[in-house]
Amino acid sequence: MPLFGPTMPVPAPGPDTREFWEACRQHRLQVQRCAACGRFRFAPAPICHACHSREYEWVVSEGIGEVYTWTITHRPFHPAVADAVPYNTVVVRLHDCGGAMITSNLVGIPNEEIRPGMLVMVDWDDIDDEITLPRFRPA
Ligand SMILES: [Zn+2]
Repeated sequence: MPLFGPTMPVPAPGPDTREFWEACRQHRLQVQRCAACGRFRFAPAPICHACHSREYEWVVSEGIGEVYTWTITHRPFHPAVADAVPYNTVVVRLHDCGGAMITSNLVGIPNEEIRPGMLVMVDWDDIDDEITLPRFRPA
């Protein structure tokens, strides 16, 4: 069962994010690493926030990390989430890729059982023929 309703807006891949979304479609979590200073960054961006280099490479993550923080949304802000509240939004710190942090949703666990530092792994949510979202579930 989908996490949110069918009218939930989906990401619109652009020049800086198209490769990320194509990798997600293939159930591969990729993170950008600056080719000049080696720092990882998420979300995909055209320029390094640390050294301003435009050169980067993609690194495939194992998709394992821990819950850094989270919030629970109780009031629906969009009709597509009306049946999903209360739902969680988590920030996951990956164990690889320099500890890059990804904002997502944790599935397969009641919101009350989410804990800081909880070990989680990526869980792919195929939304449609073009978009697959990386969610996470307890590892
Ligand atoms: Zn850099």
